[in-house]
Amino acid sequence: MTSETLFSKIIRREIPATIVYEDEEVLGFKDIAPQAPVHVLFIPKNEVIPTLDDVTPGQAHLIGKLALAAAQYAREQGLAEDGYRIVMNCREHAGQTVFHIHLHLLAGAPLGHFGAPGQ
Ligand code: AMP
Repeated sequence: MTSETLFSKIIRREIPATIVYEDEEVLGFKDIAPQAPVHVLFIPKNEVIPTLDDVTPGQAHLIGKLALAAAQYAREQGLAEDGYRIVMNCREHAGQTVFHIHLHLLAGAPLGHFGAPGQ
């Protein structure tokens, strides 16, 4: 499945977004409903992959590219020393809402722990 999502429209600049990072393969833009003082989404620009579960071995490098883009952005913004969280939601139980893989970068304040059902 390679259907379009609203993130495809952000890549093509058809809907507005605050773009804060771009290289040949990755786009980073501010989340419209931030869950932390800094909340940026990093997405692959050239392939629509619905979920992490759909990533093939040949596409595995993209996951590293997303993580390194987030790390670079965090360093450049002075967030790396205090630390940050990266998250990728996969399907219903994780609350995934946009089916175009994306890495969340959350930073700018202590984030607490999470992960248990209902938290
Ligand atoms: P997920 O729940 O992991 O699928 O994350 C999707 C994220 O996309 C959510 O955090 C939304 O707030 C965010 N989002 C939805 N629409 C937009 C948009 N137009 N621009 C920026 N972020 C968006």
